[in-house]
Amino acid sequence: MIYSEDDILMLSGIQHFAFCKRQWALIHIEQLWAENERTVEGHFLHKRADNPFISENRNGIRVARAMPIISYTLGLRGIADVVEFSEAEYESQFTTRLNNYQGLWKVTPVEYKRGKPKKDDRDTVQLCAQVICLEEMMKVKIEFGELYYAQTKHRQRIEIDEKLRIRVYSLAEKMHEMFREGITPPAEVGKHCSICSMVDLCQPRLTKKYRSVANYIRSAFLESEETE
Ligand code: SF4
Repeated sequence: MIYSEDDILMLSGIQHFAFCKRQWALIHIEQLWAENERTVEGHFLHKRADNPFISENRNGIRVARAMPIISYTLGLRGIADVVEFSEAEYESQFTTRLNNYQGLWKVTPVEYKRGKPKKDDRDTVQLCAQVICLEEMMKVKIEFGELYYAQTKHRQRIEIDEKLRIRVYSLAEKMHEMFREGITPPAEVGKHCSICSMVDLCQPRLTKKYRSVANYIRSAFLESEETE
């Protein structure tokens, strides 16, 4: 499927959607947002990476920061923290050409994350979505991306295999479906709620039978009227 400009959603939302569909809907459908220390720390880290339109030459590798990216097959757009271009000897499906720079280049996105590697796949699906954007934009095939974790100061190489790509297309399709319907799903109470930046706005234990915060407030109001 090819999405039109009007249907494009924020790429960074795919990590919220993979973590909890309700969290994504509260942020992207209901336009609610809350910051906890984790998101503040994340913003700080991104500020360092989001230094737009600077490219540098480090050990033969060109580095583009805060690069705008888009995929019309995913219907997602966003900003890649860092994209590295390393020079290749031979032309292949894994090489592309760059404006203003001679030669052939392999492309590797590097996504900056606070903390350490997570047990779930929210970081890898975001990285894979970035890869799909870059492949579409630069007509190149990308086999690997990297995740950099501030707490461990370590880069993790992630293989962008077919299984991961299918998962990302499926998540993006569900995001578009939910956005079109405009319906926030009920809370899925679990361990993830204890690290969720939206927990105060979500009220997961109170709202697990109500789809949206607006619905919850309306129902609570009606219930209080009935008991008066
Ligand atoms: S508090 Fe729990 S159910 Fe609510 S948005 Fe966060 S993770 Fe999802």
